[in-house]
Amino acid sequence: MSAQDIHKVSMADTKQKTLLQMRPGQTLQFKTNNTSGELSSLTLILNRLDSVTFDRVGDEFTRKETSRTPEVTQAYKEAEINDSLFVDGLKSGIDQSLLIELANIFGWDIDFALDIRKGDSLSVLYEEQLLDGEKIGNGNIIAAQFINNGRTYQAIRYSTEKGSSYYSPDGLAMRKAFIRTPVDFTRISSKFNPNRLHPVFKTTMPHRGVDYAAASGTPVKAAGDGKISFAGKQNGYGNVVIIDHGRGYQTLYAHLRGFAKGTKRGARVQQGKVIAYVGQTGWATGPHLHYEFRINGTHKNPITVKLPNDEPMPKNDLKNYLPYAKKVVATLANSHSPEFAQKLASLNKN
Ligand SMILES: [Zn+2]
Repeated sequence: MSAQDIHKVSMADTKQKTLLQMRPGQTLQFKTNNTSGELSSLTLILNRLDSVTFDRVGDEFTRKETSRTPEVTQAYKEAEINDSLFVDGLKSGIDQSLLIELANIFGWDIDFALDIRKGDSLSVLYEEQLLDGEKIGNGNIIAAQFINNGRTYQAIRYSTEKGSSYYSPDGLAMRKAFIRTPVDFTRISSKFNPNRLHPVFKTTMPHRGVDYAAASGTPVKAAGDGKISFAGKQNGYGNVVIIDHGRGYQTLYAHLRGFAKGTKRGARVQQGKVIAYVGQTGWATGPHLHYEFRINGTHKNPITVKLPNDEPMPKNDLKNYLPYAKKVVATLANSHSPEFAQKLASLNKN
C-alpha cells in the first residue's frame, strides 16, 4: 500500500479508530486495481462475526461495518454428579461458562461447596450459536433442573419489563435476598453441628455456624444487603463482621485476616460486596471463614435455612409465564436420556 492510500484509509476511520486497535491474529484483506495498482478496498476481519470494510469512492474511502448473525439452536445436556458440579459437568460435555451460569442460577438454593451429594443430577436446556453449521458459542440457558439430596430445583429464564431473570415453575424468583455461600473458593472443613467438639478446646462447645476452609486472603462477600453493626475484634471470633439485614436477619463472618476498605460500623453494604478476607484470627486452627446466620437472634444452619425470596414475578406476567413454564419443563423432561429418566423415576419413588 502506498503511504497515500494508508493515509486516505485512516481518514475514514478517525472517529472509530478500529484500525488502531488491530490485534494479533486478525486478518486483513486487500483488493487492488489491476491497471493502476492502487488500493480499491481493504477489509479488517475482527472476528468470525464482525468485519470493517473500507472501499475507494473516487479519491476517498468509505467505511462500512458488517456483522453476521449466528443461527441459534436449542441444545440439551445432562450430568450425574459424583464429585463436583465442575468435574462431572465438564466430563458430560457442558462448557465451563455454562457451569458457572448454572452455579449462579442455583447458588441461591444450593451450597455448591458443602452440600453436593453423590448422585445429585443436573440437566440443562440452552441455546447454541452456529455459524456455517459450526458451533461458535453458547447463548442463554433456557431452563435447567438440579436435583440435590433428593430435592428438585427447576429454573426457567423469562423476560419481563424489568429484564431477564430465572424463576421457579410457579413464578418465584430463583434470586434470593441472601447468597447461600459467602466465599468463592471453598473446600469442606466442618459442617453445621451444634454438638461437635471445639477443635481448640475439645469441649462440646456448640458450633453455631458453618466453616468454609479457604486460603488466607480469599475475599468474603456480604450475603445480603444490609448495614454493618460490628466490625472489629471479639475474643474467639478474632476479627469479625456482623451485618444487620433488617426484618430480624443477621449474618456473622469470623476469623478474618482483615477488613475491606469501607467495612466499618454503620456502613451500608450491598449483596455480594467484598467486606473482608479469610484468615485465622481468634480461636481457629487454620484459615477459614466461620459463617453464622441468625433470624431474630436464633442460629440457623446457613446451608439449609430457607431464604426469603427476593421479588416474585410481576402479576401481569404470571398468567403468560405459567403455561410457558409448563411447556419448557415438559421439553426438559422429554429431553432426558432413557437412563437419566429412569434414574430420576427411581429417585422419586424413594
Ligand atoms: Zn466455625
